[in-house]
Amino acid sequence: MIQRITTNCIRIAVVIIIPLLFITGCSQDADRTSFLLGTICRIQINGGDNSDLDAAFNCIRQIESRMSRNKETSEVRKIASGGDDGFKVSPGPCQVIKRALDFGHLSGGLFDVTIAPVVDLWGFGNNDVDPHLPSESALKQALPLVDYQQIQVQEDCRVVTGPGQRIDLGGIAKGYAADEAAKVLRKSGVKSALINLGGNLFVLGKKDNGKPWKFGIQDPLKPTGTMMGIIEIDSGALVTSGIYERFFEENGKKYHHIIDPNTGYPVKNNLAGVSITAPSGLDADALSTAVFMLGIDKGCELLAQFPNTGAIFITKNGEITTYGIASARFNLTNQDYRVVGRK
Ligand code: ADP
Ligand code: MG
Repeated sequence: MIQRITTNCIRIAVVIIIPLLFITGCSQDADRTSFLLGTICRIQINGGDNSDLDAAFNCIRQIESRMSRNKETSEVRKIASGGDDGFKVSPGPCQVIKRALDFGHLSGGLFDVTIAPVVDLWGFGNNDVDPHLPSESALKQALPLVDYQQIQVQEDCRVVTGPGQRIDLGGIAKGYAADEAAKVLRKSGVKSALINLGGNLFVLGKKDNGKPWKFGIQDPLKPTGTMMGIIEIDSGALVTSGIYERFFEENGKKYHHIIDPNTGYPVKNNLAGVSITAPSGLDADALSTAVFMLGIDKGCELLAQFPNTGAIFITKNGEITTYGIASARFNLTNQDYRVVGRK
């Protein structure tokens, strides 16, 4: 999970799913951190070198240049000015937009990539703007623009939107980027790596000692860096969405960055956060956002459609429900929490 801090006037998303490398004494051959996709991206590899990191970061940089909403020249930005014929995007954004529309259907419309105009009113999604409470009338005006069903992706990857619609891949692109970076590393022969894109984790292969990877799950009710449990995974993605990733406080109320497309306001339910494990980073990313909005019961119904996925739901009152995660793989370290259900 991530939290914003202020450094040199840039708000930075800090990863607080806590990689517990020290627990198992994993060594790295190469390790690099860079600010991309609006967040801190770190890749650590075993059995590789700096040229492998160059290739992986170049891949992420290319994805950012095509899919970022904050870059005027990005393909995702240009879609808005595509007119009736739409704007032709590269295969990468084409695939991600199609999958995002699938998640729109799968989530009953809660996951909506056309949320951009509303997210902008809140000031989320742009590190140069302070998040703030928008006026009700501004939200009311922007809400009709939010409707993923008006987006069409043609066979040649021309993307056509309704008038005034804009696309925000913030809930899915980091997961895709992690998958692609992992592909690049695998291709160059790297056997073991940890890719961490602002809390969207992807582990490639086993650790150098052959043991599972261990990660601390942030305690959603405590200061950053305080973990409440440890999860073990062998491979694939671990992605978290929650109310404390990006948020601000106004008049004593907290507002987070996952927006209900029906109301224009942050989703309200009893969840503080949900962490998803899945073979695919893209799926894990979109699922974490969608499942967070759906809540535990409907969220588990959605997860059932994705083989080999797992989830840890944490409610605001400290109750934990796990889905598809063997009990030996998730250990509570804070006894203020209790596991109330295993599905
Ligand atoms: P993060 O990207 O901070 O790790 P998430 O993956 O949960 O967190 O995605 C939240 C981001 O998704 C928001 O910052 C915004 O860009 C976008 N978003 C917000 N509400 C929705 C929504 N209803 N459907 C799809 N994307 C959304
Ligand atoms: Mg997400």
